[in-house]
Amino acid sequence: MEVVKIAKLINGSKISQDIKKEIAEEVEELKRTKGFTPGLGVILVGDDPASRIYVNNKQKSCNEVGFYSETIKMEESISTEDILQELNKLNNREDIHGILVQLPLPPQIDKAKVLEAIYPEKDVDGFHPVNMGRLVANQECLVPATPSGIIEMLKRENITIKGKNAAMVGHSEIVGKPTALLLLNEWATVTICHIETRDLKASISDADILVVATGVPYLIKGDMVKEGAVVIDVGINRITKDKASQELLEWRKEDFEKKGVTLIGDVDFLKVEPKVSYITPVPGGVGPMTIAMLLKNTLKAAKMQLKI
Ligand code: NAD
Repeated sequence: MEVVKIAKLINGSKISQDIKKEIAEEVEELKRTKGFTPGLGVILVGDDPASRIYVNNKQKSCNEVGFYSETIKMEESISTEDILQELNKLNNREDIHGILVQLPLPPQIDKAKVLEAIYPEKDVDGFHPVNMGRLVANQECLVPATPSGIIEMLKRENITIKGKNAAMVGHSEIVGKPTALLLLNEWATVTICHIETRDLKASISDADILVVATGVPYLIKGDMVKEGAVVIDVGINRITKDKASQELLEWRKEDFEKKGVTLIGDVDFLKVEPKVSYITPVPGGVGPMTIAMLLKNTLKAAKMQLKI
């Protein structure tokens, strides 16, 4: 009889709830002992519905853990200078310890100039070149939230990183590159793959830890992954009923019936899961970790500014 092995699912929703609870307790303590509340300032430009949802969720999470939060909404047509002025005010406010500018920005805005205008010690997204540089140098810094969420998940599952072969598929500034650096800083032997990688299967087949962040559904097939590997699927792909395979229609029957759409990652979950030791589901894996780690960064920024 064939034995069907089932990987352990890494439950990002549960881990992120635990982290939020820990933050809320620490904030309560800070309020009680120091009379002090961490504050997050968010700049939201334009009317992009997805960005609005993300910002609302960030604000809701801030409320949950007891932070002060404020969103500055700006018109789609504004200039780089207008954003710089707002950033200057936030940079100099004592009640705001973390600042983020919701991306993407309209095309007329100089994104690099905007991100570089945030004080590095308030840069809770960790996108400022000073924080990026400190990450390269393995110095204390604010690290982008999704990559630090990935490492946090591995650590909370007691998965050893040191000495392991790790492969990072995707080399973006917000996920791939910082994740590869964090894995390296934890002493993994890291391979980084991207769209120009000639033989993806050969490059990842020896990976004990495989992280995938490409936005390409079904990129990682069952035969590409090492037996017993740990698989972290960062991808978020929205698949409508008309684009779904028969297998997906059956697996996500409820989603398609209720919403006509489902979310999947970059990994062919049904084929990969029986081969591996741990895997993150989509949704409910890496996704919820991002906000939790953003809150953690805000608390860290606040404590650094207060020299606690
Ligand atoms: P991006 O578009 O900036 O980068 C995509 C990367 O994938 C690039 O490095 C590209 O070279 C690589 N790539 C594309 N096709 C490939 C192929 N065929 N083979 C190998 N590499 C390939 O994307 P991103 O911002 O890093 O996001 C990646 C995915 O992760 C998206 O689905 C995004 O929605 C998701 N994401 C999730 C979270 C979260 O869970 N909180 C956060 C950020 C991004």
